[in-house]
Amino acid sequence: MELIKNTCCTCGTQFAANKPIPELCPICSDDRQYFLDEGQTWTNTTELLKTHQINIRELNPSLFELQITPQFALGQRALLLLSPGGNILWDCLPVLNQETIDFIRSKGGLKAIAFSHPHFYSNVNQWAAAFDCPVYIHEHDEQWVFNSGQNIRFWTGESKPLWDGITIENIGGHFPGSSLLRVPTLSAHGSLFTGDTLYVSKNKKNIAVMYSYPNYIPLQADEQTRVINRVKRIDFNAIYGGFEWQNLLEDAKNIFTASVARYQQAVEVI
Ligand SMILES: [Zn+2]
Ligand SMILES: [Zn+2]
Repeated sequence: MELIKNTCCTCGTQFAANKPIPELCPICSDDRQYFLDEGQTWTNTTELLKTHQINIRELNPSLFELQITPQFALGQRALLLLSPGGNILWDCLPVLNQETIDFIRSKGGLKAIAFSHPHFYSNVNQWAAAFDCPVYIHEHDEQWVFNSGQNIRFWTGESKPLWDGITIENIGGHFPGSSLLRVPTLSAHGSLFTGDTLYVSKNKKNIAVMYSYPNYIPLQADEQTRVINRVKRIDFNAIYGGFEWQNLLEDAKNIFTASVARYQQAVEVI
């Protein structure tokens, strides 16, 4: 039985149980994150499984959204993509229960887990062990992996081809290793799973690229320009972001172009 409390309650990151747990979570101590008013608190997956479930919602026949209910930590979703060459889990949740394992196995299991960025690493080693699959994390974010398991594979370069035309694209910005998954089959010009790499606004008419979203810290101007130009080179018309309201099913490239034009005007004024 797991007794050590090694999961940060604010961000859901699970630290290695066989090493000393840090006094303060490095993810939440970073400029891009925060602590709640009660400060650093810890739990573990054994405790979480007593009180939390995973809600699975079909977004379309080959795409499912997984979310912890009631909400825990950052409240992100993981996306389960069903693909003929093998299923992919994009990002992760701090809880994994048997019902979810059974559901994913009923769909053919996982061929890989891949990540947008370190805020969503959660308890990835438990997921990877359950499905005996590799975990793809860009090498630029290696310093944020605090619980490195045998399944983690650091990838390098700008683009990593997977299968069925699916690629992981390193974008940077929010984190140097921030990435997105491009899926060619879900929409006419391709869909991007973005995590926090691109952040769809609540009214779905704007897309942000920021160093920190909760703390409203912009990117450095040169990095912002580099990120914008990098995304402009990718073909897409749909975005599935890191949170449940962030489904932009059409016109996403035009919304991105209009959004970043405002960014660039603002930078010119400054
Ligand atoms: Zn944390
Ligand atoms: Zn983030």
